Amino acid sequence: MRIETKCLHEGYKPKNGDPRALPIYQSTTYKYDSAEHIGKLFDLTAAGHMYSRISNPTVAAVEEKIAALEGGVGALCTTSGQAASLISILNIMKAGDHFISASTIYGGTINLFAVTLKKFGIECTFVEPDAPEEEIQKAFQPNTKAVFGETIANPAISVLDIEKFAKIAHKNNVPLIIDNTFATPILCRPIEFGADIVIHSTTKYMDGHAVQIGGVIVDSGNFSWTNGKFPEFTEPDESYHGVVYAKQFGKEAYITKARVQLMRDLGAYPSANAAFLLNLGLETLSVRMERHCSNAKKVAEFLSRSDKVEFVNYPTLEGSKYHDLSKKYLPLGCSGVISFSIYGDREAGIAFMDGLQLASNVVHVADIRTCVLHPASSTHRQLTDSQLIAAGITPGLIRLSVGLENVDDIIEDIRQALEKI
Ligand SMILES: *Cc1c(COP(=O)(O)O)cnc(C)c1O
Repeated sequence: MRIETKCLHEGYKPKNGDPRALPIYQSTTYKYDSAEHIGKLFDLTAAGHMYSRISNPTVAAVEEKIAALEGGVGALCTTSGQAASLISILNIMKAGDHFISASTIYGGTINLFAVTLKKFGIECTFVEPDAPEEEIQKAFQPNTKAVFGETIANPAISVLDIEKFAKIAHKNNVPLIIDNTFATPILCRPIEFGADIVIHSTTKYMDGHAVQIGGVIVDSGNFSWTNGKFPEFTEPDESYHGVVYAKQFGKEAYITKARVQLMRDLGAYPSANAAFLLNLGLETLSVRMERHCSNAKKVAEFLSRSDKVEFVNYPTLEGSKYHDLSKKYLPLGCSGVISFSIYGDREAGIAFMDGLQLASNVVHVADIRTCVLHPASSTHRQLTDSQLIAAGITPGLIRLSVGLENVDDIIEDIRQALEKI
């Protein structure tokens, strides 16, 4: 199956007389014929559902679909993108460990890595992703356990050189974890470029309709956890009567451990209802991404010609610093997210936002409806103009998430709002 077909036909596969659409198995619990079978489930020697904090048939169908879309051996859904980032790290690190992350990542992930994980004793060093290999290599320590980055960074809209990052990670015997939220597997499949683990905030394009927070972790099955750096995979797990993950689960060691150990203990598993909604989004993902990309490309070109606009960040634009990387990693397009800056101060940005009639002012991206955010008057409003510039945000910066409306309507709305400034 090609990827468009996988969006519709992977995961749930109804048999003769079964419901056509994915059923919502609204049950916390499962029934068994014998105590022996339950014993096998708890020993992890038989496959099956034990309790809906660990797995559920509706969620499992969606996990199977996402694993197929990304080209992984297995996936684990989580209640949010934040939970996916957290579990992807905790699954291989403990207090005293260290990892490296590209500095251009989602603000919520920066908080998690720089502040909260630090309280757990796990340290993160942020590196400039466009720096040469030798420079990034300097951030490695003997206790470094992973490298992390985003395919298309939120909100910088820069493109990560995934192969460069994979090469550096593997030279140091650690996995590369990629947050593929903005690209989705329709535009880029990081595993094909050497990523070992892929995570998503499914809240964004995968859901697409702004109805359900969620996340997912996908395991490529390619990383060798027996290289001596990851004893949690090669030594018995006392909390699971001595199971040795690498030995018992082979290629699926990482994703199985994340589920049966961490999801069991942390309890961030989505409901069947949440998975049902996510599946609806996934069924149309390929069609939506095509339109998001073609609309955004036209809007970015329109903005780059406007004399009210200082600069536009969108990788497919001629002259973009990320033009070549986008051709390599995102040949079908760079998603619907653009950032651009209006000439002038914070008030100019506010005037533009207030002038929009179609695009809605929301703290969200990757929705089917066009939406905008002006960091200087919302998420970053506590900062002075000079502090904003130090944070890489101009007072007139707008993050625009181009939706699925007719592109001429989107452009007309932006044109009339720019004229009002
Ligand atoms: C939104 C987002 C997250 C966090 O996801 P939630 O579902 O909001 O918890 C993580 N990474 C990226 C790139 C995001 O855009």
